[in-house]
Amino acid sequence: MKIILLGPPGAGKGTQAKDLSQRLNLPHISTGDILRQNVSLSTELGKKAKDFMDRGLLVPDELITEMLKERLQQPDVQEEGFILDGYPRNLNQAQTLDNILKKKNTEIDIVFYLDTSESVIIQRLSGRLVCSKCGANFHIKNMPPKVDMICDYCQGELYQRTDDREETIKKRLQVYYKEVSSLIKYYERQNKLQRICADEEREIVLSRIIQMVKNHCLTTKT
Ligand code: AMP
Repeated sequence: MKIILLGPPGAGKGTQAKDLSQRLNLPHISTGDILRQNVSLSTELGKKAKDFMDRGLLVPDELITEMLKERLQQPDVQEEGFILDGYPRNLNQAQTLDNILKKKNTEIDIVFYLDTSESVIIQRLSGRLVCSKCGANFHIKNMPPKVDMICDYCQGELYQRTDDREETIKKRLQVYYKEVSSLIKYYERQNKLQRICADEEREIVLSRIIQMVKNHCLTTKT
């Protein structure tokens, strides 16, 4: 199964994708996580991407496409499919992905748009903490770790992303809203878009997504 999670920064794509990946046994591909890994390892890609990321801008499509193609070649994805989080960010990326999948005789099954109000986005992002080891997300108020600044799952150290500061959040939202309407239209035309209100609690949003995935499986079997 091949699922895309679309939504603004702070919609909870990463959190939902991790939960869904466990529940549906599908690999989670986060382009943001892969980029952050490359930045922290100072790879060539990381060095090229860092400045764009720190300024809240999109990393150029050529770099992202190469990175995604490589990840899509790996056996777990070939066998199971994926939950894609953070890609596509614009129409060109959506078309590129469709072309890559077409060559493999396959296509996206379902695209979830996690609709989120701006006040919720700012509140979530400005309190977000991320584990430096396993990438799990926490929140200073809504989902605090059991021990201050330490990950509940792997005991890694938690940090605030450099792009989760207020000025960069605003820039990321501007970039996001500029591109998203064409993406929404693109997937609506393909009859693949499902909207979900993501202002609600994590568990409620997750159960709605799972219900829609089940419905999708039922309708495509008949
Ligand atoms: P995210 O973790 O998805 O919020 O991504 C963090 C940052 O990584 C973004 O603000 C972009 O600079 C970069 N990024 C992640 N995914 C993409 C993508 N598909 N295209 C371009 N830049 C991306």
